[in-house]
Amino acid sequence: MIMGHKIELVPTHEQETYFRKACGTARFAYNWGLARWNELHAAGETPNALSLKKELNAIKSEQFPWMYEVTKCAPEAALADLGRAFDNYFRDLHKQGGRRARRPQFKKKGRCRDRFYVSNDQFMVEGQKIRLPHIGFIPMREGLRFQGRILGATVSREADRWFVAVQVDVEETPVKRKSQAPVGIDLGVAHAATLSSGKHYDAPKSLAKHLKKLRRLSRSLSRKEKDSRNREKAKMQLSRLHRRIANIRRDWAHRLTTNLTRKYGLIALEDLAVGNLMHNRHLARAIADVGLGELRHQLEYKAPMRGGQVVFVDRFFPSSKECRQCGSKNNVLTLADRTFVCPACGHTEDRDLHASRNILREGLRIIQTTQGPWGSHACGQVASTRRRRFASRLAEAGRAQARGKTPEESSGREHV
Ligand SMILES: [Zn+2]
Repeated sequence: MIMGHKIELVPTHEQETYFRKACGTARFAYNWGLARWNELHAAGETPNALSLKKELNAIKSEQFPWMYEVTKCAPEAALADLGRAFDNYFRDLHKQGGRRARRPQFKKKGRCRDRFYVSNDQFMVEGQKIRLPHIGFIPMREGLRFQGRILGATVSREADRWFVAVQVDVEETPVKRKSQAPVGIDLGVAHAATLSSGKHYDAPKSLAKHLKKLRRLSRSLSRKEKDSRNREKAKMQLSRLHRRIANIRRDWAHRLTTNLTRKYGLIALEDLAVGNLMHNRHLARAIADVGLGELRHQLEYKAPMRGGQVVFVDRFFPSSKECRQCGSKNNVLTLADRTFVCPACGHTEDRDLHASRNILREGLRIIQTTQGPWGSHACGQVASTRRRRFASRLAEAGRAQARGKTPEESSGREHV
């Protein structure tokens, strides 16, 4: 399993200058590759990331000698990025509906993310320091949390701070769980997460709280004169606020998903089309604020890490509309109705709670059909095989006894 750990760096001025140079080199290489790609394509050729890399390497020392001032990974990875972007674009070219990858665009300074890649042979992590080519050791705010084979690292800038994201291939070890308790979770807007146990969690409404400030800052930015120093200042303030909002949200999401995956062995979720929901203008801000897609993603990777499992319930499964008591559909229910009332049997329940319990039931049904009844095995897949073996040995012993032999004799016979 590949895990990324993003750590803040504490560079000196000199090191920061190097970072900016490397980001600029990566951006330049990307734009150079894109321009070359378009040229070659117009000439009827089919370029790829590798051919562009060879071409760039051949002319680098003559035309762009300054590229040697930073790690060679910066331009190389940028071209690899470009190749992937084109792959995605061509993959989606004839796709019907849904989101399609856009054709790669030129990157503009200040309009794109400043980042560059470093491959694993070019850097070294030592405690709370990382060693990068040309500039030596840079202190990190914390040590690397994952153990395993280091694959690579990406240095990036967020407002006025620098981060390194280290990718580590972590060996998966089967985790024994104490609890196999299943839970259904309804992710929503009124409450970020409603559990079938009756508990619900709300996101810190960081965006709502900071929205006023965000509006004020954007307004003040738009009033500043172009290319002025004050404009630069306002821009930095705005991006700092964006980062702060994102941090609060991410921190909350991580704490919630860690708790849930520790507590529950099976988590049933609705396979929400977050992308589709975002098209609804009224919901978009609330959903983005809670970060539903992020919650889902975190549950999905954290559950297996702790020996648990996530099961997705089909998004067309009527979790909120079908009465869980009598099964009749309540088609008059709208998003504004906070309470579910069944027109057939009169069952009344909080809308989200009702949905989460329906999701749990449907999740358990899916597990039942694919893996057998949930909870019949004590410790996930590993234990279930062991138990099957034990059961077959019991059965064998039973048959042996029926034939008048002791189990020991019969199991001895098995090995012959
Ligand atoms: Zn009913």
